[in-house]
Amino acid sequence: MHPLTGTLWVVATPIGHLDDLSPRATDTLRRAALIAAEDTRHSRPLLAHYGIATALTALHEHNEREAVAALLARLAAGDDVALIADAGTPLISDPGYRLVRAARSAGFRVSPVPGACAAIAALSVAGLASDRFVFEGFLPAKPAARHARLQALASESRTLVFYESSHRIEESLAALATVFGAEREAVLARELTKRFETVLALPLGELATRVASDADQRRGEFVLLVAGHAEEEDARLPEGRRVFALLRDELPPARAARLAAAITGAPRRALYAGNES
Ligand code: SAM
Repeated sequence: MHPLTGTLWVVATPIGHLDDLSPRATDTLRRAALIAAEDTRHSRPLLAHYGIATALTALHEHNEREAVAALLARLAAGDDVALIADAGTPLISDPGYRLVRAARSAGFRVSPVPGACAAIAALSVAGLASDRFVFEGFLPAKPAARHARLQALASESRTLVFYESSHRIEESLAALATVFGAEREAVLARELTKRFETVLALPLGELATRVASDADQRRGEFVLLVAGHAEEEDARLPEGRRVFALLRDELPPARAARLAAAITGAPRRALYAGNES
């Protein structure tokens, strides 16, 4: 550690409600020589709201390499640098990993100023098991990659936490209900800390139907939490569901379930549950 060098402060900002910026975060942002922000235009209103006049520089995935070198030079010169994202905690589905890693390996002090994080806020109100959980961030956008990722997670026993955007929430819920089963417990936390905050706790199949049939439930930002795979669930079900999903595109659901059960050994009723249309 070099005593005369600056500190890289990793500062959480609100995920909606402006009052969720902590006094220490405000103070750190005010005192820093420079704030590295994901999108400087996005962060200006927040900083203006708190009367913070610190200089801003952009740090996003397209300029991270050059920006990191410049920020390390500032730290070496003794300047404190604060890193913020558009919302919530930097590095959590947001830029900053390269900067933090480079600053640490160069021996600079890197210190957190913790605060809002949508995943943790959602978990704290979901009422799903929170002693162990897995943060999965955003699912792949392409259907085949998304399906493969979900398949790999189908037997995960810890609570699963996903981020999702308004234009993919419907598709993702449908894919989750197909791969994990319509009956799996889930919670959709929308617009947390904002005016239209909604937390819906329903089985995946019902949640998918609800969101598909109500455009209001597709607006805003989402954290989707899914209960972990119950240990007593039949181990053949994930493969059974995969085969059922393929057959269901070609056959009536009852027939698809019967064939998928015969092929994989998974219980037919569990495959058919939630597909009685
Ligand atoms: N770094 C942020 C954090 O600490 O939560 C997350 C940034 S990520 C680019 C943005 C995603 O976070 C959104 O698509 C949504 O899934 C989730 N998110 C952010 N704010 C949210 C809110 N107020 N309510 C629900 N989800 C939110």
